[in-house]
Amino acid sequence: MQTQAVAKDVYALVGPTQNRTYDNYAINANLGFIVTHEGVVLIDSGATVQSGPLIEQAVAAVTAQPIRWVVNLGSQDHRWLGNAYFAERGAQIIALARTVETQGAYADSHLVRLRETLGDRLEGTLPLSAPEPIEADRAALDLGGVSMELLWLGDAHYVGDALLWLPESSVLFAGDLVYLDRILGVWPHSRIRDWRDTFDAMEELQPKVVVPGHGAPGDLAKAKRDTGDYLDWLVREVEGALDNWEPIDETVERLADAPEFEHLEHFDDWNRRNLNQTYLQLEAER
Ligand SMILES: [Zn+2]
Repeated sequence: MQTQAVAKDVYALVGPTQNRTYDNYAINANLGFIVTHEGVVLIDSGATVQSGPLIEQAVAAVTAQPIRWVVNLGSQDHRWLGNAYFAERGAQIIALARTVETQGAYADSHLVRLRETLGDRLEGTLPLSAPEPIEADRAALDLGGVSMELLWLGDAHYVGDALLWLPESSVLFAGDLVYLDRILGVWPHSRIRDWRDTFDAMEELQPKVVVPGHGAPGDLAKAKRDTGDYLDWLVREVEGALDNWEPIDETVERLADAPEFEHLEHFDDWNRRNLNQTYLQLEAER
């Protein structure tokens, strides 16, 4: 993880865009933190309790303030399975009820998969969600004197994914709504049409800086190019194919090369899978 300042007292912890490995503690994603007068707000907690000390060290390199709050933006392993480490040290875990619900639904399967990658580095990791989930789609938080909004604007990579918006610094922690530099992944648990619509709703915030779920922080124009345009393209092209009764195999084959998105890392691994999954989901709607 690389610490990158994105505004005054606001930092991204930028993880690798590769797959989960033993060496990266399965944190192939971005976390972040905000330094306040009263403590640090950590955004997402890593995939295990064993990466807790690494995250603490990264924060300690910037401030002597303790981590007092942990905000979870999603339900994928690397967003929250490290919660218990910080809770044991007195941090309050904060999340929307929608997010917590999905965390509970996927915890077991994520732990099984992590076991294969991490082995002993998963030791001691137990799922711990926010004890008092917020039953709202928008929650104004004032943590250590910094105003922020925890927002659900629609489902995306997972149902219940949330964003953290900092209006004073115009920084958006977008979680897995936005992937930069690398291609996003549409899974059976993703909601491709909602994801596209949620991205559009997010644009209305007009953030100056977008900290994506994966990839280096960037601006809204880059988020549009690397994520928004690709979501638009998937939905538009696959709907066209369905209108024409084009079979799934032919559709995937025809759209497998997409020059405007080939620069995204992992394009060769993921574009076909994404087309396939988009086709299945949009076909099921008809
Ligand atoms: Zn992710």
